[in-house]
Amino acid sequence: MKFSQLFSKTLKNAPAEEVAVNAQLLIRAGFISKVMAGVYEYMPLGLRVLNNINNIIREEMNAVGGQELSMSVFQDKETWSTSGRWESAKEVMYQFKDTNGKEYGLGFTHEEPLAAAARHFISSYKDLPKAVYQIQTKFRNEARAKSGLLRGREFLMKDLYSFHTDQKDCDEYYEKVAEAYVRIFERTGLKAIRTFASGGLFSKFSDEFQVVADIGEDIIYINEKENRAVNKEINTGEVLKDLNWKEEELVEKPAIEVGNIFKLGTKFSEPLGLTYTDATGQNMPVVMASYGIGPGRVMGTVVEVSHDDKGIIWPENVAPFKVHLISLGVNADDVYENLKTQGVEVLYDDREDKSAGEKFADADLMGIPWRLVVSGKMGPDEIEIKKRTEAKPQIIKRSELAGML
Ligand code: ATP
Ligand code: MG
Repeated sequence: MKFSQLFSKTLKNAPAEEVAVNAQLLIRAGFISKVMAGVYEYMPLGLRVLNNINNIIREEMNAVGGQELSMSVFQDKETWSTSGRWESAKEVMYQFKDTNGKEYGLGFTHEEPLAAAARHFISSYKDLPKAVYQIQTKFRNEARAKSGLLRGREFLMKDLYSFHTDQKDCDEYYEKVAEAYVRIFERTGLKAIRTFASGGLFSKFSDEFQVVADIGEDIIYINEKENRAVNKEINTGEVLKDLNWKEEELVEKPAIEVGNIFKLGTKFSEPLGLTYTDATGQNMPVVMASYGIGPGRVMGTVVEVSHDDKGIIWPENVAPFKVHLISLGVNADDVYENLKTQGVEVLYDDREDKSAGEKFADADLMGIPWRLVVSGKMGPDEIEIKKRTEAKPQIIKRSELAGML
């Protein structure tokens, strides 16, 4: 991609009311654009990062047998009333009437609609287990939407739902997904700690995945020996005794919840009538679990934990491009074409009206992992190379480039 053709430009300033580092940097670098509090649009650069994250999630969900589908965001009142959540969801769910006075809502999670849809396809123990997921827009009426991508009112969620004959089968699958979550966060460059939290319906706890960061709205207590933590909301003497943890060995930290998985038991299958016939012919409610990750929140979290005073530092797996190629005075079209031929993703700063200082500042702000510079001051077979994480560049032979990258 040539910088001169890019839809977005880097900006001098982020909106004054934007307090979160992730929003400030992503807006200034031209990755996202703000519509209103808690609502952001992904510009081409931002969408490349988001798609990289989604693809990592997709690969890991497919690897545990998840089948991708796409549910409707537009929800009818009846389905949500059946589980009793229509009223209690009012605080978070955008609900509205059409011109005939009929009531609707926008999906903020999908347990009810998925249980309803599964009734068409699950009727026997032979139909189980099953797991489906989507990566889809959710809406939530978030009171405090001041954290950029971390807390959107419109945001993307990957939500997986699994269906089982019994709790034991569900428990085993739940552990497999928890392990997939560990791999997802590792691959996106995040150090996420599996954390005991509230919200377990047919188990004592739900499991959150928390990334230590100052901006985090959660407080967790980390057991470093076990690489696990407990959320402050359930950190009681009783829970610690249960876990066999000692209060004095725990370290308190603010953290961002990037994922949350729940055992749901039959809470949704029973009211919605999602049942199956077991081997003896008996009618039984399906046992369910649900598993969420916010890809946008993951992207914001990466920026929060991986930046310096000059800008973003993308981990390679999620970076919008691998190489940021800068030409100074001379053109670097041959290097650009060469890298593209080798399948390397390059952003080529070919702008002729920008100073070296401006180009370097933009490269630091945008945070692409490798910076290459071609200038008239170098020999024709030379090129300057620098990692975003390193201070000093080095000059190498162009023929050495492929090996370095
Ligand atoms: P929080 O406590 O931060 O409000 P939650 O517990 O309500 O989040 P879940 O219902 O568990 O969120 O949603 C699953 C995942 O979706 C979360 O772990 C998070 O990664 C993401 N997510 C939830 N709410 C938002 C939001 N408003 N903006 C961006 N991502 C979100
Ligand atoms: Mg949660």
